[in-house]
Amino acid sequence: MCQMFQKKIKTHNQLNHGWCVKSMYGLVSEKTRKEVTSKGSGGMEVILSSLENAQDLQTTLNILAILNELICVCLGGGRRTGVFVSKGGTAILLQMLVSSSKNPPANEELMLHIHTLLVKVGPKDRKFGVKSRLNGALNVTLNLVKHNLQNHKLLLPCLQVLRVYSSNLVNAVSLGKSGALEIMFEIIGPFSKKSTTLMKYVVSVLCVCSSGMNARRAVDRGYLPTLLSIYQDWHRHDTRHRHVVIRKSILACIKNLTNIKLGRKAFIDANGMRILYNTSTECLAVRTLDPLVNTSSLIMRKCFPKNRLPLPTIKSVFHHPLPHIAAGGPVAQLYNQPPGVDDVVDESDENEATEVDTENETEYEDDETEDLLTPKPDESPLELDSISISKRPEGTADHDLVCSLGRLVVDAGVNGGSVDGLQDEGGEQAVLEVPDTAALLPLHDPDLYLEMVKSTRSVPAYTEVAYPDYFGHVALNLREPILERVYGVQRTKIFQDIERLIHSSDILDKVVYDLDNQRSVFIDNGESLKFNSKFESGNLRKAIQVRKFEYDLILNSDINSNHYHQWFYFEVSNMRPGVRYRFNIINCEKSNSQFNYGMQVLMYSVQDAINGSPHWVRTGSDICYYKNHFSRSSIAAGGQKGKSYFTLTFTVTFQHKDDVCYFAYHYPYTYSMLKMHLQKLSALRTAQIYYRQDDLCETLGGNSCPLLTITAMPESSSNDHISQFRSRPVVFLSARVHPGETNSSWVMKGTLEFLMSCSPQAQSLRESYIFKIIPMLNPDGVINGNHRCSLSGEDLNRQWQSPNAELHPTIYHAKSLLQYLRATGRTPLVFCDYHGHSRKKNVFMYGCSIKETVWQTNANTSTCDLQEDLGYRTLPKLLSQMAPVFSLSSCSFVVERSKEATARVVVWREIGVQRSYTMESTLCGCDQGKYKGLQIGTSELEEMGAQFCLALLRLRRYTSPLELQNHNSHLLDTENDLIDTRGIPNITSPTTYVLEEDEPAFLEEVDYSAESNDENDPDLEPDLQDNLALLDPSSDSEFSRQDSVN
Ligand SMILES: [Zn+2]
Repeated sequence: MCQMFQKKIKTHNQLNHGWCVKSMYGLVSEKTRKEVTSKGSGGMEVILSSLENAQDLQTTLNILAILNELICVCLGGGRRTGVFVSKGGTAILLQMLVSSSKNPPANEELMLHIHTLLVKVGPKDRKFGVKSRLNGALNVTLNLVKHNLQNHKLLLPCLQVLRVYSSNLVNAVSLGKSGALEIMFEIIGPFSKKSTTLMKYVVSVLCVCSSGMNARRAVDRGYLPTLLSIYQDWHRHDTRHRHVVIRKSILACIKNLTNIKLGRKAFIDANGMRILYNTSTECLAVRTLDPLVNTSSLIMRKCFPKNRLPLPTIKSVFHHPLPHIAAGGPVAQLYNQPPGVDDVVDESDENEATEVDTENETEYEDDETEDLLTPKPDESPLELDSISISKRPEGTADHDLVCSLGRLVVDAGVNGGSVDGLQDEGGEQAVLEVPDTAALLPLHDPDLYLEMVKSTRSVPAYTEVAYPDYFGHVALNLREPILERVYGVQRTKIFQDIERLIHSSDILDKVVYDLDNQRSVFIDNGESLKFNSKFESGNLRKAIQVRKFEYDLILNSDINSNHYHQWFYFEVSNMRPGVRYRFNIINCEKSNSQFNYGMQVLMYSVQDAINGSPHWVRTGSDICYYKNHFSRSSIAAGGQKGKSYFTLTFTVTFQHKDDVCYFAYHYPYTYSMLKMHLQKLSALRTAQIYYRQDDLCETLGGNSCPLLTITAMPESSSNDHISQFRSRPVVFLSARVHPGETNSSWVMKGTLEFLMSCSPQAQSLRESYIFKIIPMLNPDGVINGNHRCSLSGEDLNRQWQSPNAELHPTIYHAKSLLQYLRATGRTPLVFCDYHGHSRKKNVFMYGCSIKETVWQTNANTSTCDLQEDLGYRTLPKLLSQMAPVFSLSSCSFVVERSKEATARVVVWREIGVQRSYTMESTLCGCDQGKYKGLQIGTSELEEMGAQFCLALLRLRRYTSPLELQNHNSHLLDTENDLIDTRGIPNITSPTTYVLEEDEPAFLEEVDYSAESNDENDPDLEPDLQDNLALLDPSSDSEFSRQDSVN
């Protein structure tokens, strides 16, 4: 044997020069030698045929030895392996393996050769898994392993082949059934410097064979504690970290077993949490051990017992009785749920529920559950005195100062104020100055704000006013960069969460704020923060002190629903300056967030405001967003599988003692603030400006929904001027249908201020159009701190197809107005609904294009045949040229089925507005343009609103009916030049298809979920169903009328 190997090595080079050399071995028959030497014949075929026809063992062995030499990865064997596979070599080897096993004991040399070859060719043969199973080779190799546990020379290639077999899932299951796990557990052992290669293959076979259906088998055999102790042993002894691969494979086995419920139980019973927590903590310092820490963290999060939120029910604390309930609708469904459905009872064996984005979810509301907090319908409006900003009891001089916006005395703890006049529960009285924001904020007036608050009707009958809304926010004159993510933050936070289980005695678990038990008195030892959000747009439901400086916060659901938690606005006081406080909002629902991509929360310090800095400021460090161990049952989740919640965590250090600070998801903009701004704007009216404010309708909550009409007064009463006045095209704008998207209100504020300004451009714009504006389509949602819905518990931007006059009055009347305009020949030239986007950067638009919709959904449709007026592209194109925050490449003109009932699509299809848009503003910041790398602020949002006006002014040039009369064709050409698709290279890029796409992956592997199949995050994939476009233009008479489609 030895001789032969030497001979082979000698001939190695010759072999590489030509097939004829093989004849030296005398293995090849005369006939085949001719074939080998003849030009163009396949040498491999010759060898394989020789192998098949070999009569004696020695010949077979020799041929196999040659093949082993030929198929050598290091010497260009890759191509030869391909030839070997394509000529059927795999099957020949497998058949040989099976047949020779029939006469035991099998020849060791033969088995060694065959397996060594299979290791090389298996991975190159795409059918290897099937072939090996069909030939019956799996058990032959497995038996060989079983009978040669001490024979490492043979064992190693056999294990390697097993590993290749089991990369096929069916084979892995089959091997498991045949006892592969048991055999591997005979080989596997404690740390040893010897045979680490062997160990590597044992654990890798174990790893694949312990997944899926075999996990149960492994858990039943009690392998989980064994794996844990083997892992500990390797952790302890592999001090120089040379065998991280083995250690990671052991963890991967544990991960497989914990995919099933029984495995998770076994893991907990075997003290797995503590073991993995301790080993990981010891690994933290060494960066190369990150894979171990990450896998451990994944296992621990998966095994962390699922809890329901610490709430009596996840249904909103507040309830608003509806005029009627649609049978079988979401409200009725929620109402019909049995009590206690929140309980987390259905922890399944599968890898957890699919995440569905709340953007596309249906909602579930409750109905007439008894609720002590429902306000009496005739509750009297607020008294100024009852507002928590109170006059100083002594001294009348201060009363005058209150009125003149001089000094105000406010309760140090704002939550002291109440209707009963129970102000100042022993807290220190601090004398605070009202910042003089009026000079900086022409539209703000604290007194006027309080006046407005009085007539605002909230479901909880709020009596308090948040300081930031009262004082006003002056945009910060500072750049606030998008944060760089610090490596390892998420991991640290998750480990701190896991510590709660491991060191449970360290956890305070002290409830310090609770809307569900408003009458309970919290013991104040001065060591806890005070929370409050009983003011307009506030929505904190519960605060629990977890550790000395750490709080879990729970947000209230939208009224008449049991979810939609994203927006937040609350107040904190009684803080210690200079201490790092960690806040965790633990019932977030979206599966990803811009908080993972550099966005910070907003904070407003009353002390800073009084000291001359009345700003909402981006704040917080160690910010991250990840799936936690709280979940709700499938019933509560509306038939989906039990759904996990997500934690937003951030850390803040307060600067001042006795401060009152506010936190918000984005710059707050209340309904009362809108009313104040409108009143201030109306005062800007001049003789040239036509400004009119009507009530569109009354909302479910009894608030009025303002409708504005702004244009220029006719220059004179001459016929020409009156005629021009009447023929101005209508521009219809709306905002804030989604209450959590406060950014849309700031953009709207910018638009309104521009429209009411006295600049020549504003005058020119007013002379060009008649503006119909509904600045807040969902006042009730805004007032009550909802994120998405109105008081009916429904997303109003999904009701445009058939709005109900009683349940969706603002939408019903807005649509009626649009229908009226159309009926009177005043179909708007532009319709735009302002929104905020929580997952993308910049500002962009969604429009409606038949052509793009066809193009996106049906690649075979020849779009060349489809004629479409491309006018809808003009406005976004102009905006991209004028507004630095606007990004054309983020725009999309596809009409998705899931958006069928939105304002944009309904106004386009039913009203026939070709330029019908949703304008989305980021909540985070910009990654292009002048503000690249910066978080967005109110001044950028307002600037966007003003630039939208300027773009409309330019649009007029292309669309003015007067000019069209004279230069119709010429101007259309110009417009088409401007919107030439060649100038918009990215407009149909694939990103338009993935509308809710997340950000790209990070350097640090950001693990949002605790599941093993993160790469299959359905959030990242467009729902094809949703993207099946509305392809029925023929039924759309309005659209056909505009001849946009032939
Ligand atoms: Zn929205």
